[in-house]
Amino acid sequence: MEKVIIIRYCELHLKGNNRGFFERQFAINMERALKGVKHEIRRQSGRYLIENFDEEEISVILSKLNKVFGIHTLAVGLKVNSDMGEIYNAAKLVCPQSGTFKVETHRADKTFPLNSMQISAQIGGRLLDEIKGISVDVHSPEHIVNIDVRENGTALVFGQFIKGAGGMPVGSAGKGLLLISGGIDSPVAGHMIAKRGMSIDCVHFHSYPYTNMQAKEKVLDLAKILSQYTCGTKVHIIKVTHIQEEIHKKCNGEYMVTLLRRFMMRIAERVAAMCGAQCLITGESLGQVASQTIEGMTSSNSVIENLPVLRPLCGFDKNEIIDRSKEIGTYDISIQPYEDCCTVFLPKHPVTRPKMQDVLAEEAKLDVSTLVEEALSTLEIVKL
Ligand code: ATP
Ligand code: MG
Repeated sequence: MEKVIIIRYCELHLKGNNRGFFERQFAINMERALKGVKHEIRRQSGRYLIENFDEEEISVILSKLNKVFGIHTLAVGLKVNSDMGEIYNAAKLVCPQSGTFKVETHRADKTFPLNSMQISAQIGGRLLDEIKGISVDVHSPEHIVNIDVRENGTALVFGQFIKGAGGMPVGSAGKGLLLISGGIDSPVAGHMIAKRGMSIDCVHFHSYPYTNMQAKEKVLDLAKILSQYTCGTKVHIIKVTHIQEEIHKKCNGEYMVTLLRRFMMRIAERVAAMCGAQCLITGESLGQVASQTIEGMTSSNSVIENLPVLRPLCGFDKNEIIDRSKEIGTYDISIQPYEDCCTVFLPKHPVTRPKMQDVLAEEAKLDVSTLVEEALSTLEIVKL
């Protein structure tokens, strides 16, 4: 008797001709997540099976699989020879000690002497005789004991399926560039879009020496957690210190964040072109802070030439975002108190509803294209 993990995947069946492409990407992502851990992955009619792992590593494997998008549900089961005695012994281990249950059998091996109804009836009957606290409910059982008689002379026996990460395999829906700060929101935004199958690269802007090295390390720590879900990522790090100094020196201070945002978007679009990203992603949420009004977003959006900007958190409350960041494991890092560049030279009263003509008038005091090129020349790339 050997432990195995059975994996059911999501939505892939919806994709018609693309199914093969989605499945290959899904298998590559699982392999990548389990790199360095002994295992074998096998495809088996509409599911995947993980076998030949060390049983002590099962919780490590499960926690890694928990971060693979595309997994709908998964279950730890037992693999035995296709023999009623062995199947029963496994079923007894999988069956709960109390509550209602039923046995469900799938028989791929049509040469097996009993059909699926007979297998379910015999195994269910024996379980009922031997485990005192259980009763049968065929319509809405609390527990299902699944038996899968395969064509290769083995059978799988498994119980409860647990929920997987959901979503689509990363790499099946293009690539996006996440503007990542050290805050709570942007890692959650990246996670949400990756969940729909998009590969994610990151760009981070810092204002060293006004912001310190720990602030940069914090962002890399966040990106590292995100990379466990996104099958790796690259962080493009860019210094915007001089841009902020120039705004501070030449422009109305109330426009600091508004103008800086426009620079960030321009630079991000250039970085996206370099790394092949097809959209920008931000952690903005409508009305959350002064710069995230619709007028603020209009101002920063208007410098983008070609790409869509995805703002998956726009309709979320802060509490909902916090809950998600706790779930994905970024919250504790996000709340470390290192400053983001947006807090440097922060005015007492930033404009909340910038008018385009005023923004353009302030921006006209700057040599925008030179500042953009200069910032791009500071690019440093960290691969995670
Ligand atoms: P977050 O929690 O993601 O920092 P926030 O609520 O602090 O968001 P802002 O600081 O207004 O909001 O930033 C809005 C969005 O702009 C961020 O979610 C992020 O996508 C982007 N952004 C802000 N600062 C930076 C930065 N230093 N580098 C890259 N992107 C940034
Ligand atoms: Mg922030």
